Amino acid sequence: MEAAVGKQTSGREGVTLSTAVQYLKGVGPARAQVFAKLGVQTVGDLLEYFPRDWVFAPRPIKIADLQADEPATIIGLVESVDFREYRRPSMFEAIVSDETGVCRIVWFNGGYLRNQVRLGQVIIASGKPNIFKHQLQLTNPKFMMVEEPPAGARDEAGGTTEEGMPPGPAPAPHADPDKQFSGGVYPASGRLSSRQIKQIILPLLDRLDELVDEFYEESYLQETGLIRRRDAFAWIHMPPDEEKLAQATRRLRYDELFLMQLGLGLRRYRTQHAASATPCLLTDEIDSRIRKRFPFLLTDDQNACIAEIAEDMGRTRPMNRLLQGDVGSGKTVVALYAALLAIANKTQAAIMAPTEILASQHFLSIERYLKDSHVRRVLITGGLTGKKRDEPLGRIKQGEMDIVVGTVALLQKDIEFQNLGLVVIDEQHKFGVHQRAELRKDSTPHCLVMTATPIPRTLAMTAFGDLDVSVIKQLPPGRGEVVTRWVERDNRQRAYEFIRERLRAHKQAYFVYPRISSVEETSKEIAAATDAWKELSEKVLPEFQVALLHGQMPSNEKQRIMGGFRKGAIHVLVSTVVIEVGVDVPNATIMVIEAADRFGLAQLHQLRGRIGRGESKSYCLLFAETDNEAARSRLGVMTKTNDGFEIAEQDLRIRGPGELFSARQHGLPDLKIANIVEDYDLLVVARRHAFHLVSQDPALAQPEHRGIRRALLAKFGDSLGLADVA
Ligand code: ADP
Ligand code: MG
Repeated sequence: MEAAVGKQTSGREGVTLSTAVQYLKGVGPARAQVFAKLGVQTVGDLLEYFPRDWVFAPRPIKIADLQADEPATIIGLVESVDFREYRRPSMFEAIVSDETGVCRIVWFNGGYLRNQVRLGQVIIASGKPNIFKHQLQLTNPKFMMVEEPPAGARDEAGGTTEEGMPPGPAPAPHADPDKQFSGGVYPASGRLSSRQIKQIILPLLDRLDELVDEFYEESYLQETGLIRRRDAFAWIHMPPDEEKLAQATRRLRYDELFLMQLGLGLRRYRTQHAASATPCLLTDEIDSRIRKRFPFLLTDDQNACIAEIAEDMGRTRPMNRLLQGDVGSGKTVVALYAALLAIANKTQAAIMAPTEILASQHFLSIERYLKDSHVRRVLITGGLTGKKRDEPLGRIKQGEMDIVVGTVALLQKDIEFQNLGLVVIDEQHKFGVHQRAELRKDSTPHCLVMTATPIPRTLAMTAFGDLDVSVIKQLPPGRGEVVTRWVERDNRQRAYEFIRERLRAHKQAYFVYPRISSVEETSKEIAAATDAWKELSEKVLPEFQVALLHGQMPSNEKQRIMGGFRKGAIHVLVSTVVIEVGVDVPNATIMVIEAADRFGLAQLHQLRGRIGRGESKSYCLLFAETDNEAARSRLGVMTKTNDGFEIAEQDLRIRGPGELFSARQHGLPDLKIANIVEDYDLLVVARRHAFHLVSQDPALAQPEHRGIRRALLAKFGDSLGLADVA
């Protein structure tokens, strides 16, 4: 606020975007404070204080042309007024004429109008005419008196006089019937009405040519059908019609997305050019040697991801790529390909998982593929001490170890590599912007982040906008279809009957019970599952082996039960906790999720991922009774799609980007007008455009990019950490 004060205009000079609003006509110090609370400090902020709604008043017509039920605006002379005080409701009446006719206007309970609507004045009134005693009349129209003094001039808070207002051709907006009744409705504060805000913004619209720079070339506007930026500002505040409003909104949303993408693009450019990595070249010979390691053909999606990764790794600038794919889609295979490519180029590869269990799982599956190969690999765990630890660490440091698997914490902290060419980070179910950043401090290997959580495409372009993304959508062949049904109470018996039938056909089933979130409730949770288990084993499915698995069981007991289920000796597994990672029983083709309304979409989808692993058709049954709208739409989404990306997208829609993903936490700027979910198509174009600009002029130094650069820094300079672009 203080900074802006220094930029006070001398009054005669032009207003600029950084002029403090205080110096605008009708504002003054008191209102400036109110504006500050609305987030408006400068003229630039004010222009971006967009209406929350718009009103389109009809153009003025002659009284003779009025028609019943056709909304219209008339301008006429007040011929007579009458207040019928004793009528119920009371009524204020004016007879108004123009050169074509006479019209009656009535306002119910209009006593307050006695001082406003006076004989001999000109009135502008807008409303829908109705017929009363064979005559057209306007009832309770919106209106204004033309002789009325301007609103700003008699307002107590507006301390400024003409001095603060630069000269300009601005016609008094309050005299223009179009502008009076139409235009923006602004988010108001108790001390500043929408109408007052409008009176302050309108004069600025006549100065847009000086205030607003065009960002793009004429040819680009033509090509994309975007309107000029100055028109967009004019029309967002005072749209001549709905069509122009839509065009204005589109342009302003585009600009906002464009600037955000530009910021991300610049950030990405900077990281890429700050560091250099060892290029890992892929030859046909290396490729076929690696492929021989896999006992199957790679899917098209796997091949496409590998091609993208190999291209990145062939460069001296470090790869920074995210590999997405549902659990079981074959990411590990792709990551191992990348690791073997790094090794073929005489560098080392590190594979990091969030937990020790996952790290050892990775190690085991890598072992399967690398049996009898010369690749030297090691699993580093926290339990290693003394010589058992020092020996491998020494070899890693000497470059005598090719693949090192361990947890992120371990590998980041105290392992020295001789020549680390690639880091693979398995994020599993979380997004790890922070880990990436940490790792990049002291080394510059190529970096591949794997995640099983489908990141909605919109977030992939925003929160992860500086990462490249590869996606595996298609599952490896031989996976059966998964059908999902939402089962309400009335259908429960039928569902049980169906399950019995599948069990008789030697299939297996999971029954999952929701977590009860608070720690103290754990015993209740177990009790609920225990009750359910008794009910299922004694009453519902007495002829089958039903076992209970919960988090508080001793681990050898858990192992025994899991083993029994894997072997098929146990037919039904009742479980409280999220079924352990890595459970893979292709014969289990049924999953019942009890109280499914209490699970989030991502979790439901992950649970469902436990079935559909074999060739036969699988069934996911969501047991739920709920009136909660969000829960009902989650269940609806589950029954409609198996596509993790679609589900993540719907999750974003149901919950809103804010909740799923705290923007601030991930350094995403706030958007005022654009919405990354709804404006996805625009986002795609804006991203391409912005990234192209970064490649052409990464410092935004060319004169024609000055306006863009200024706007970028004003809008996202802080949130995207772009201070050094300035
Ligand atoms: P993710 O890491 O994405 O969970 P994995 O790489 O562990 O997936 O693969 C899951 C399972 O699918 C493994 O048993 C793996 O051997 C198998 N698999 C992977 N790719 C293929 C393929 N192209 N064809 C057949 N099976 C595959
Ligand atoms: Mg895996």
